[in-house]
Amino acid sequence: MSSSPLQHLSSLNSLRQWRKTQHKEGRRVAFVPTMGNLHSGHLKLVREAQKLAEVVIVSIYVNPMQFGANEDLDSYPKTLEADIAALEALGVAAVFTPATAAMYPRGLAQQTFVEVPQISDLLCGASRPGHFRGVATVVCKLFNMVQPDSAVFGKKDYQQLMVIRAMVADLSLPVEVVGVDTEREPNGLAKSSRNGYLSASQKQQATVLYQQLSDAVRSLEQGETIECVEDRAQRAIAAAGLEPEYFTVRQQQDLQPAKADQPAPWVILAAARLGSTRLIDNLELAGPLHGPR
Ligand code: AMP
Repeated sequence: MSSSPLQHLSSLNSLRQWRKTQHKEGRRVAFVPTMGNLHSGHLKLVREAQKLAEVVIVSIYVNPMQFGANEDLDSYPKTLEADIAALEALGVAAVFTPATAAMYPRGLAQQTFVEVPQISDLLCGASRPGHFRGVATVVCKLFNMVQPDSAVFGKKDYQQLMVIRAMVADLSLPVEVVGVDTEREPNGLAKSSRNGYLSASQKQQATVLYQQLSDAVRSLEQGETIECVEDRAQRAIAAAGLEPEYFTVRQQQDLQPAKADQPAPWVILAAARLGSTRLIDNLELAGPLHGPR
């Protein structure tokens, strides 16, 4: 934990200066990129980052490039003062809050993008075309700006984590990527800034996602077939008043459909709409499963 006060950096120059100082003084830097409206899930990432390096820097930037035309870019919750207070209380060294003019000096029509096609086109990428290109591009830019030794991401956004891992490997980026387990409400609902769009009763309804993921893990472990498990969960999610987008058992490594005869570790991923809010969640299945599936 850093004993000096939190530094608020909003220009690229001040960030670069800060980074140079850390380098000169031999401190490792761990980085947590966020879109702000920080909750205990983000703070868990910060605490993990503090284990990895002497100093932690958090970015807060709502990246227009990863939002579709009909998505919530303009209404995305902004709570900068509270976010800064929370980071200060944790002893974070610096927060980087760039303006869009600093992130995209040539505008969003810039010529260079980072694309990680195979893993970006399925699941969330199928219903949010261009989303992961926007994510990979901004994370690559942030890595170039911050030059962290390590960067921490939540498994809550499982596909995003896999896109970033693939990008880092493919482009030989000198950053260690660390994934952190999902932080949940006591009733199982995964913490998310978008939960703020839900009413109290919708938050209760939304717990069906975690319930079905947990049930699915148990059923698969008991040998039920992937198809049966996926079908039953989709029906239960619809019966709870959500509109299921996908509920699918995948291989952790490449997010391709899981196959009963392959002993690779699996992850169950779910996405559903509740009113106008899109919710995602997932659970990993630890290690290879045994018995018939
Ligand atoms: P966001 O601000 O939503 O872009 O999220 C910033 C980082 O926090 C991403 O790496 C997310 O995966 C992670 N994150 C968001 N919600 C959670 C959660 N409930 N538990 C753990 N990590 C999370």
